[in-house]
Amino acid sequence: MQKDISLFQQMQEMEHEQVVFGYDEATGLKCIIGIHNTVLGPSLGGTRFWNYATDADAVKDVLRLSRGMTYKAAISGINLGGGKAVIIGDPYRDKSEALWRRFGKFVNSLGGKYITAEDVGTSSKDMEYVAMETKYVTGVPEFLGGSGDPSPVTAYTTFLGIKASLKKSTGNDSVGGKKVLVQGVGHVGQYLVKYLKEEGAEVYVSDIHEDKLSEIKKEYPDVKVVPPESVYDVDVDIYAPCALGATINSETIPKLKCSIIAGAANNQLENEIIHGNMLKEKGIYYAPDFLINAGGLINVYCEWTGYNRERAMGTAEMIYDRTLEIYAKADEENISTHQAALQIAHERIQQVAKLNSYL
Ligand code: NAD
Repeated sequence: MQKDISLFQQMQEMEHEQVVFGYDEATGLKCIIGIHNTVLGPSLGGTRFWNYATDADAVKDVLRLSRGMTYKAAISGINLGGGKAVIIGDPYRDKSEALWRRFGKFVNSLGGKYITAEDVGTSSKDMEYVAMETKYVTGVPEFLGGSGDPSPVTAYTTFLGIKASLKKSTGNDSVGGKKVLVQGVGHVGQYLVKYLKEEGAEVYVSDIHEDKLSEIKKEYPDVKVVPPESVYDVDVDIYAPCALGATINSETIPKLKCSIIAGAANNQLENEIIHGNMLKEKGIYYAPDFLINAGGLINVYCEWTGYNRERAMGTAEMIYDRTLEIYAKADEENISTHQAALQIAHERIQQVAKLNSYL
């Protein structure tokens, strides 16, 4: 009973519309879909496949992630609401065609209120199975008429966020000669390394999986590998979190030596208010995660509304100016960049909500 009350309290505090649980014994599927806000359009967000320690951790994650999607769409000028799904399990062991198709049926049962895509632990191959059971899926392979893996576009907007942060802090947006640490070299991280190397950055990488590090070292032998436990102690100019969230917290901020934090991971600030302000006080330029990792969402939105790569990359370009706009607003109003970005996103949702009340 206590658990139910606490879930609704969480929904109330984070302003969620709906949370749906799915379970299937035959395939081992245990999933949760969080629908945060559908004022701007149907909720869209990827499916995270992760070995959560407890069900409560999975609920917490889906609530935080789906809320982030609402603001990401709002700030990118996209007509989508915020949603996200999590599947509880080991992505290296528990995936099967049957599980994905069962999940697809489950998504389908929501009638388009939630549209899925890839996220951590999932791939466009997985979305191919989901697409066998529902049309409410994006990030499906190109040969099925989809846009494929959204990660290169996410890496591109993250790169633009890094460049805009450099422009703001130094007046020059080149990463050439800058020391950049990419934490997590999975789908997004590896493309980000490519952009950084192309422009002459000195790249440091960290990952908990050896195979990911070997892939990167094979492509770029001169990248330096940092053990996961030493990430916050390394002396770099830019820290780019591209693994999981909450890595910016009271324990890590005092250790950080970088002047810029700009990465693709969702929900980087463990506490948006406290840690957003701590970064501001420490003088670290923080490019809000939900803004600069919007490339993937922009890409799947273009897939949903009529895909072509030029349109997706062209739309993604706006992230550079938007990042500068947020730094300027934060300065003017003496607030954290995270707060500045949230305010812009909120304003757009409120304006569209008012429009929705007219016939
Ligand atoms: P991914 O699973 O392909 O890559 C994540 C990588 O991080 C993996 O290689 C994993 O081994 C590594 N990792 C996990 N814990 C780590 C740790 N403690 N230290 C170092 N490395 C660690 O996921 P992805 O698609 O690349 O997404 C990365 C992040 O970006 C996630 O937070 C995701 O939500 C966010 N994001 C992704 C997209 C996208 O288009 N894929 C879009 C928006 C946001």
